[in-house]
Amino acid sequence: MPKLHLITYGCQMNEYDSERAAGLLTQLDRYELTDSPAEADLILLNTCAIREKAEEKVFSKLGELRALKREKPSLLIGVMGCMAQLRGGAIQQRAPIVDLVFGSPAIARVGELVERARREGRPVLDVGEAPLVKVTSRPGRPAPKAFVTVMEGCDKHCTFCVVPVTRGRERSHAPAAILAEIRELARAGVREVTLLGQTVNAYGRDLTPPTDLAALLERVNELEGIRRIRFITSNPYNLTSRLVRALRDVPKVCEALHLPLQSGSNRILAAMNRGYTRERYLELVAELRETVPGVALTTDLIVGFPGETEEDFAQTADMVERVGFDGVFAFRYSRRPGTPAAAMPTQLSEDVKAHRNTRILEVAERVGAAQNRALEGRELEVMVDGASRRDPGQLSGRTRCNRVVNFDGGGRIDVGDFVRVRVTQAMPHSLRGTLVEEAAHVC
Ligand code: SF4
Repeated sequence: MPKLHLITYGCQMNEYDSERAAGLLTQLDRYELTDSPAEADLILLNTCAIREKAEEKVFSKLGELRALKREKPSLLIGVMGCMAQLRGGAIQQRAPIVDLVFGSPAIARVGELVERARREGRPVLDVGEAPLVKVTSRPGRPAPKAFVTVMEGCDKHCTFCVVPVTRGRERSHAPAAILAEIRELARAGVREVTLLGQTVNAYGRDLTPPTDLAALLERVNELEGIRRIRFITSNPYNLTSRLVRALRDVPKVCEALHLPLQSGSNRILAAMNRGYTRERYLELVAELRETVPGVALTTDLIVGFPGETEEDFAQTADMVERVGFDGVFAFRYSRRPGTPAAAMPTQLSEDVKAHRNTRILEVAERVGAAQNRALEGRELEVMVDGASRRDPGQLSGRTRCNRVVNFDGGGRIDVGDFVRVRVTQAMPHSLRGTLVEEAAHVC
């Protein structure tokens, strides 16, 4: 049987798409997955276009694969995902070893596209629009956690972002299709689902009749077998009081929200076209903290956006302190061709961006560590993910507020189990704890 090797870059949406592509290709025993590129008959790179570095990584990987293709000319190499959608045929021009380039809308046809590339022996390109299709196939048995796409695309026009170009307009999947997928996952042993969308909290407004994410969360909550529900990524612009209440009132929805701020400066937020101010963001945080006690807040920040002054940057650092984020993903601004920000005249040097990135991470680490310390002595529900990365003798899992906890499982606990753990020590990025014996296996 021919072998497929998949390489995934970028966000959870890409991980999900890679699973779909692998699921379709392994169905009917057409391909089997391999971890070894040298063994593969087909290599697919699922790519990200959000930063220039992400694109360069793909070309460097394609450079490495050239030798394999020389040794085995029948090897097919495909590039899929956001970079494929954005760059199209330019990828094959720069890397002629690529046989196939297709965007996310074409995933449902991956089998047909691969066969065409094999049969015709010339480059295949499919980066056009296509109707929204819910592809639910996955290779093998799912883990106890799964991602489920509830919508595709984005209607916002943040000036730094290529997503509206690569993923198209906002389109929601029908609730019935989402619920059917999650029901199947629950039957296969999945206990935690993360609902995915570029602006997931805009879910449903394009459907007829319109609905919203809060209503979807209530329906997922009713599904037997599912114990935890998460959702990413929310946009502050679309955060409603109804959704905030759902975080509190829908029992399986975890008390954790990823709410990208991007900048703490109103001037920069306006230049980014984010549609909110720092004051509005702080109002939302106040509402969240009041409605959902103990809610964990994480965010994305961009430093070094064109025209960002020291004062603008200081306001971003100030927001990290004021909000008390539990986690921060900070990125240096990356100039993406075709976006309005790329044409702004006040681009900053890489040195300035790197320096600000280091400084914001220092602030974020200090603030996050303080949030972690507040959990010392608390007893928390943990879903077990597996062995700890640092110490394979320990187990690692996540709390409902999405913090990593490492603890000694005493050899009696399996992946996917829910246990109660008392937090004994807060580390900068994780917690250590001890199993609360009498309350183990709470499910
Ligand atoms: S909301 Fe997110 S995905 Fe949409 S344009 Fe802005 S940054 Fe990009």
